[in-house]
Amino acid sequence: MARQRGSRLDQTDRNNLFLPTYGDRSLSFVRGRGSYLIDEQGARYLDFSGGIAVNQLGHCHPALVAALRRQAGRLWHVSNWWLNDACIALAQELVKRTFAARVFLCNSGLEANEAALKLARKYGRATGGAKKHRILCFEGSFHGRSLFTAAVSGKAQHRRPFAPLPAGIIRCPYDDIPSLRQALNAEVCALIVEPIQGERGVYPASRAFLQEVRRLCDQHGALLIFDEIQSGMGRTGKLFAYMDYQVRPDLMTCAKAMGGGFPIGALLVDAKYGEVLSPGSHGSTFGGNPLAATVALESLRLTDDAALLRAVTTKSKMLAKALQKINTQFQAFKAIRGKGLWFGASLTPRYDGQAVMRRCQELGLLVLLAGEGDVLRLAPPLNISTEDLHKGIAILTTCFSQLSPK
Ligand code: PLP
Repeated sequence: MARQRGSRLDQTDRNNLFLPTYGDRSLSFVRGRGSYLIDEQGARYLDFSGGIAVNQLGHCHPALVAALRRQAGRLWHVSNWWLNDACIALAQELVKRTFAARVFLCNSGLEANEAALKLARKYGRATGGAKKHRILCFEGSFHGRSLFTAAVSGKAQHRRPFAPLPAGIIRCPYDDIPSLRQALNAEVCALIVEPIQGERGVYPASRAFLQEVRRLCDQHGALLIFDEIQSGMGRTGKLFAYMDYQVRPDLMTCAKAMGGGFPIGALLVDAKYGEVLSPGSHGSTFGGNPLAATVALESLRLTDDAALLRAVTTKSKMLAKALQKINTQFQAFKAIRGKGLWFGASLTPRYDGQAVMRRCQELGLLVLLAGEGDVLRLAPPLNISTEDLHKGIAILTTCFSQLSPK
């Protein structure tokens, strides 16, 4: 085997190469194949973390690899002074498959949200003057870590150390219609909401709430922004969660699974708002990059597939049933929430999140935590085999059987 890169350094030295934004990391991976990751010692891990809802087609899907290889020999980058055939094809498919008439391509989730928020501010100013600048967001939300996206996110610890942040932000409890009615008024230019709050621990909004959000935005001339960065691209069993709720946003952001692991993001915009961001008002050097666009196009075609999405619903039922069984055996969860292949199981005080994550890892299963580290979050690849799904469930069961409750 070829010498592994970086293998001479011990764990502390490795971690000290990076800003400590992610804490100390013990594992380092060298390969991925399907639902598995392989570390530098050659150990295999079944991946129920999905790169935080990114690798919806598993690791190194052969069709994505082939698309990337093809494009790598053709064209890597052209500035946005010009178009390229890959970004045209991707935009065309996004428009065909969603409510949107136009797209803005970028590189990440926060960048897509930043574009949406800037569009909303510009629209507000144009339609209601300087006063119409307020942005309504929700407690428990997560929209990114730039100053603007942190300002509209739920956790104070993501905002306070970086003050002063953009002003004019109103925060409301999630899924709470009376508070929403009180907060939304003519000064609001946009409301940003995750149809399902991921980082908080996979909390789906009720349909009634999102319908009321839509109605009130229309009444007060506010743009409705759905952040589908985590809920999008098949994760819930639909291409996007809004399709299941049957509530149409004005703007929608996506990223994460959009490139199946290749960095890309997009803001999708309804025809009515397609010309708000006029030439020169916004941009991104790498937005529409041919490599990213090529992989994203292939990823979109493979994900927006009726058989794959139907199978997500079937596998979702299996996983939900298994989590309930684990709960019956070990009283592990206060609540189990989810949609599609995306679950948040709030741990009872008997179990420590870090200990669960660590033991799963020792047993060869990668899982995630969300909320305050007290929610077990699962986001396996959408194309995981039922055999591997059962393998993961068996490891989870073993994990709880081996951990002694607190
Ligand atoms: N919005 C949501 C709902 C997310 O879950 C995330 C990331 O977890 C983001 C935005 C930020 O995306 P990125 O990390 O690509 O900037």
